[in-house]
Amino acid sequence: MPTSAQTPVDAAPAAGAVVPRGKPRKVPRVVILGGGSVGLTTARRLRKRLGKREAAIVVVDPRPYMTYAPFLPEAAAGSIDARNVVAPHRRALKGVDVLQGKVSQIHHAERTVEITPEEGDPYWITYDHLVVGLGSVARTLPIPGLAEQGIGFKNVEEAIAVRNHVLNRIDVASSTWDPELRKRMLTFVFVGGGFAGIEALAEVEDMARYSVRHYNQIEQEELRFVLVEGSPRILPEVSEELGGYTLEQLRKRDIEIFLSTFLNSCVDGHVVLSNGQEFDAETIIWTAGVKANPVLQQSDLPLDKMGRVTCNPFLQVVDADGTPVPDAYAAGDCAAVPDLFNPGQFCPPNAQHAVREGKHLGDNLARVLRSAELTEYKHKNIGAVASLGMYKGVAQMFGKIKVRGVLAWFLHRTYHVYAMPTINRKLRIMAGWTGSILLRREVVALGSVHDPRAEFRAAAVPPKPRAVDTAALPPQKAEAGSPAEKQQATGSGQAAKSAS
Ligand SMILES: Cc1cc2nc3c(=O)[nH]c(=O)nc-3n(C[C@H](O)[C@H](O)[C@H](O)COP(=O)(O)OP(=O)(O)OC[C@H]3O[C@@H](n4cnc5c(N)ncnc54)[C@H](O)[C@@H]3O)c2cc1C
Repeated sequence: MPTSAQTPVDAAPAAGAVVPRGKPRKVPRVVILGGGSVGLTTARRLRKRLGKREAAIVVVDPRPYMTYAPFLPEAAAGSIDARNVVAPHRRALKGVDVLQGKVSQIHHAERTVEITPEEGDPYWITYDHLVVGLGSVARTLPIPGLAEQGIGFKNVEEAIAVRNHVLNRIDVASSTWDPELRKRMLTFVFVGGGFAGIEALAEVEDMARYSVRHYNQIEQEELRFVLVEGSPRILPEVSEELGGYTLEQLRKRDIEIFLSTFLNSCVDGHVVLSNGQEFDAETIIWTAGVKANPVLQQSDLPLDKMGRVTCNPFLQVVDADGTPVPDAYAAGDCAAVPDLFNPGQFCPPNAQHAVREGKHLGDNLARVLRSAELTEYKHKNIGAVASLGMYKGVAQMFGKIKVRGVLAWFLHRTYHVYAMPTINRKLRIMAGWTGSILLRREVVALGSVHDPRAEFRAAAVPPKPRAVDTAALPPQKAEAGSPAEKQQATGSGQAAKSAS
């Protein structure tokens, strides 16, 4: 239930209606949309800077946790427990009100947002200051079969599903001798060769090969991993040299990589590529880029051509001529924030910027509420680190320093555990890594978590059909031939006899 700081506005405004803003609140309310990298860090920083009497902070998110996405590939590979790549809001956001629900409309002119909870009717809340940190969603294309056959790799639920699915396919393939079926089950396709795609592919492939070692019935050569990338290179985030090195490493691991190639269709798992290749695969993982959260289209905030909220370097929302929209701020994947180190460009959609922008925004909001001057967000990219499976990685630090292999893998782990929010999660992740080094990683498929009631459903005894009064039945019903109908007819006949 909403608390006093979250009291919903009495009624939803009709389209275009102006909601009276009423008396100014004693304590200004900051509503933060999205509790991800931006939302969590902004809320924590603002709470640190301002006491409860200076600002009420409300975070709105359909999930009860923030996901640290750079660790998703390791969560899918089982190197990190999936629960530890998320920071639970109720624990990490002390002194902040959390509303669980989806923002469905933003009427900034009236300072209201509509929230749609998982159960129950949508409601509206008012605010004095708005922070938009709604992130991004997978950027997909209308490819036949993709919606039915594909899965994204953007959140922890998908990472867990991918892990369980891949391990489950290996399990199932090991118990069938049908060569075509085995081939189909053991073929895994990844579409998109950016950071997320390459890390996901490399980590999952590494896990699958490790897992197959424990099966007598499956040979390593039977596993087929395929990467489809539309551009002529992978990892555009690092230098061509490092991208080329990664490509070489993946090919040495027998991963098939098709560059300048598109997925044309995958109806019923029959994959057709633009280079003429055709094969069957039960697993198609889509990691081909992101776009700003489409719910922003249901707002009166200014958006650019890519659907991102337009911002200035102070992280204020600005309209087309650069004039700040009062009381509105945005950051992260859903915002077009000018990159002051690369004039004319915007900060790329990554956690490196999102977390720093969140902190900066928390500081700037504290300044606004204390009538101090805002400062510009300025961050020089410190580089990129990628894990390519256990003890394998690539990294490019500060533009020049290029690192490969175990050292890069170690840098990846060190950097991301440092960046992972909350001490609690950092310690849990490090403890898990230590456990895995000592006891080896766990590669068991928990496929049934996706339908845990199946076994119970099969075992459950259905209730006996109720006796029906034949007098009330039309004559042909009593003659019906199905066992249930016969039982019904007999039952009701007996009931009629005993009544007479
Ligand atoms: C697999 C993967 C690997 C990555 N690896 C790296 C990496 O190595 N380095 C790096 O710098 N970046 C990496 N990134 C990118 C990075 O994770 C994102 O750029 C960053 O998380 C963006 O932060 P954000 O706050 O804008 O969005 P998010 O962190 O995605 O937060 C958005 C929040 O909004 C919530 N939300 C969505 N819709 C609604 C709604 N209607 N109402 C309310 N809330 C809503 C979501 O639940 C979520 O909590 C990776 C991303 C992925 C997917």
